[in-house]
Amino acid sequence: MGTKLYFKCPGNDPVSRAVPELYICPDCGMEVEIWTDEINGRCTSCKRVFWNDKALKMAEKKPPGHSVRSVLKELTQLACQLGASDARAIPTTEISVEEDLAKLCQEPRCENHGLSAGCPPHVAGPAGFRKLLKTFKHAVVFKIDVPSEILLSNERRDIFQLLHEIAANIEQLAIEMGLRDSNAYAGGSCKQIFCRDHSDCRVLAENGECRNPLFARPSMSGFGINVLKLKKVAGWMSNKTPRDVDPDAVSMETVCGLILIG
Ligand code: SF4
Repeated sequence: MGTKLYFKCPGNDPVSRAVPELYICPDCGMEVEIWTDEINGRCTSCKRVFWNDKALKMAEKKPPGHSVRSVLKELTQLACQLGASDARAIPTTEISVEEDLAKLCQEPRCENHGLSAGCPPHVAGPAGFRKLLKTFKHAVVFKIDVPSEILLSNERRDIFQLLHEIAANIEQLAIEMGLRDSNAYAGGSCKQIFCRDHSDCRVLAENGECRNPLFARPSMSGFGINVLKLKKVAGWMSNKTPRDVDPDAVSMETVCGLILIG
């Protein structure tokens, strides 16, 4: 079902005892298979994403007197449930924000520079992010490991869509758990990912509402967030590549998302 098959198959997890269930897409009426441990699914016909209400309710159940630690654990588990390859809670003091990285959006100029409300120069940049960061203690960082050839193919857009969706879902659940200032960041331009078939970003062109408020999130690049350091902090950097271990291993890339929790 959808892009998640690249990363894991819920049916292979003997602990979750997940089984597929059929839902009807509210937009086009197609039957869509959603596993019982997934909180949403994507229609393979019209690409609409919709909630699995039963799994969502289960995920939102909180232990009595839940601590920040248990909430962070729950959020990282949810990230993996949604399709992330791994997720970690980190202190925000470990997040590095660098002017030089933010400048890369402008020089060499990214083709998406200025095209959406989630990209420079329409975001607060490193200075604004540093200020915001001071008001948070905890963050969740997650990754999706993807075969390199997928990122070079037409399926790249699906991967980045999934990245935004996971980030936004974790933010939403954190908010529902009472952490109302939680903020999610993803990668790639939401103009390319969600509004490629529209001439403009509606927020910029019409001062209107985002067409995809449930899923589109700003790109980390525009704030100068050092993603390489995030990966190191999360323990995802290894000197050995899969090819060092197995010369026939598939070359992999990693894309990351970040949610400030508070
Ligand atoms: S309207 Fe489209 S381009 Fe503009 S912020 Fe929303 S998703 Fe991004």
